[in-house]
Amino acid sequence: MRISVIGTGYLGAVHAAGMAELGFEVVGVDVDKAKIASLQAATMPFYEPEFEPLLEKHVGGRLRFTTDFAEVADADVHFVCVGTPQQGSSLAADMTYVDAAVDAIIPHLKDGSLVVGKSTVPVGTAERLAERIETLTPDSVNVELAWNPEFLREGFAVQDTLHPDRLVLGVPSAGAEQILREVYARTIEEDRTPVVVTDLPTAELVKVAANSFLATKISFINAMSEICEITGADVTLLADAIGYDDRIGRKFLNAGVGFGGGCLPKDIRAFSARAGELGAAASVAFLAEVDAINLRRREHVVELVRGQVGGLVGRRIAVLGAAFKPNSDDVRDSPALSIAGQLHLAGASVSVYDPKAMGNAAKIFPTLDYSDSVEECVHGADAVLHLTEWPEFRELDPETLGGKVAQRVVIDGRNCLDREAYKAAGWTYLGLGRS
Ligand code: NAD
Repeated sequence: MRISVIGTGYLGAVHAAGMAELGFEVVGVDVDKAKIASLQAATMPFYEPEFEPLLEKHVGGRLRFTTDFAEVADADVHFVCVGTPQQGSSLAADMTYVDAAVDAIIPHLKDGSLVVGKSTVPVGTAERLAERIETLTPDSVNVELAWNPEFLREGFAVQDTLHPDRLVLGVPSAGAEQILREVYARTIEEDRTPVVVTDLPTAELVKVAANSFLATKISFINAMSEICEITGADVTLLADAIGYDDRIGRKFLNAGVGFGGGCLPKDIRAFSARAGELGAAASVAFLAEVDAINLRRREHVVELVRGQVGGLVGRRIAVLGAAFKPNSDDVRDSPALSIAGQLHLAGASVSVYDPKAMGNAAKIFPTLDYSDSVEECVHGADAVLHLTEWPEFRELDPETLGGKVAQRVVIDGRNCLDREAYKAAGWTYLGLGRS
């Protein structure tokens, strides 16, 4: 079986390499020439642990990358993995990339092939695209469209691609299901991965429902964090205590600066927009509050800093972290960068350090100051902000760090530094939702 992957970003590039690892002949196609050149050279165009060895193993063998859509013509299965960012002018998803990608492959689809959407899309997209494919392919060419949403986590993308925790196969027919079962045969057999076979709209909705739930869980604990701050309670202990209830669970209950990245924020907004179009705005009205709680945490950190260092103009603030999460260089809608940007606009002199995301951060916020190391970043700082939980930040020695700053003030936006060790070293430690 031959596979094509359209769109080779964080999702598609890893999916392409994963499919090659599973033994398929794979071609990855993207309109971004620089990204394709990097992938052709088996160099990852973004940071993702364990990804580069997979590229090195398969590029030049079963895996190739191109900007020429004609090269998908041999493929039996085409995975559509292009971006669905938020529109500039509304909360809805921008579908122009998905539509363009499908239009670009239509002239090259062979009879019996299967187009499989993996991008996160508004419910109803699959049906619309299936009709478009049906209309634009000759009568002699029968092509079906399925939806197979992706649940990988950046930072664990290779593991999640090769060993997913579940497979959702939104299929129009038994034939399409059979093809997808062949693609994933190894994981289904070896890992006993649960397979949920659905219709197209259910498959589309599973993904946005999952992300809405995760976002809600994070905003729930951050709302509790706000109450803890008022009452003098400790949200980390509260999370531990409620998390022992296995109906609740401890995962995704870490209070802090909230969620970000290229998925959760835009997915809950796109879901709200789509529900509005369907006349069901009330059903997901709570997502607007989930979003608002999340964004309030960022403003809260800015106010904490202002209060702690006595105003922002001219203050030196060190920001540790730029990526939206550790083990990634993805800065899309990153809480860390958003806070750094707000502090800068309020007159502070902001220095940012991140182990992997400096290049991407500088592209989005070129006016911030970027340091080459933690030491340089915190030098002379009036406050240190810990905003992305990279392991190397947790391992910093508070005493050594204290020797470099102007004031020993640390705001732990992820609640995972050693509070007692910082206090013992004379720091004023401020967590979120902790008295
Ligand atoms: P991305 O921006 O990293 O990658 C998208 C890629 O599509 C880019 O390389 C872009 O150049 C390419 N592209 C755009 N138009 C194209 C076209 N017409 N033809 C070919 N390529 C084109 O985005 P991503 O993070 O990989 O996300 C892709 C989709 O997957 C989104 O819908 C996202 O919500 C979903 N998703 C992402 C993740 C994740 O962790 N990143 C996880 C699950 C689902």
